[in-house]
Amino acid sequence: MIAFWKRLYYAYLLRHHAIPFLLWENVTQDLPAIAALSPVENARLRELSSLFLYQKELSGKNIQLTDTMRVIIASYACLPILNLGFDHLKGWTTVLVYGDAFYVSRDEMDSQGLVHHKEAVLSGEAWLQGPVILAWETIQQDLQNPERGQNVIIHEIAHKLDMSNGKANGMPALHLDMPVRNWTDSFSKAYASMQKRYAHHRHICLNPYALTAPAEFFAVCSESFFCTPERLYQNVPDIYRQLCLYYRQDPLSHLKR
Ligand SMILES: [Zn+2]
Repeated sequence: MIAFWKRLYYAYLLRHHAIPFLLWENVTQDLPAIAALSPVENARLRELSSLFLYQKELSGKNIQLTDTMRVIIASYACLPILNLGFDHLKGWTTVLVYGDAFYVSRDEMDSQGLVHHKEAVLSGEAWLQGPVILAWETIQQDLQNPERGQNVIIHEIAHKLDMSNGKANGMPALHLDMPVRNWTDSFSKAYASMQKRYAHHRHICLNPYALTAPAEFFAVCSESFFCTPERLYQNVPDIYRQLCLYYRQDPLSHLKR
């Protein structure tokens, strides 16, 4: 019954708060990974993105956000949940957008309870039950260089999905028909083999940042899954198949179309 009322509520919101069609068309028609969607998928992404812009609070920290920027952020934030449903983004509301990479300086506690001081310049961050933070400069660089297969928005949303069952560890809450063993085998083998290749200065198909932690590996693989699916499939087909099962999408089929 709750699902019924939720559907009614979403239908009401979409009737009154849908992203205007012309704005949606103009912004998304040439966006990498999104332009390849079928008309039905594109319409569903517009609905999810409309809900995103209604329910999340997007604010610019040192930058004025335009409608175009808001639609770009919403569309890539919702691409991973296209076939999962909007509820996969529940539990947080804030998206902070900086004009360029932002500096952080703080103390963080590790899993052993030890506190480390962290100082870094970041292009994106996702907090457990907290905000998603993005640098607009990085979003633009990702869009201008689609061949790199990088997308900071998809990356941070992948972290959020990973956090759906606790701290980000590289394994989100899998669907009931996905054996955990298949996931852990595929990811741990690919992670170890890429670390070996990278240590021997051999080419790897992903941004090397993927090798800093299993959670980063999942987030970077997710970026590649949506942005350069052919490359991911050719290099690590087991990972590609696991991500197809998890995201309930097959981006390669978009390219064939
Ligand atoms: Zn990350």
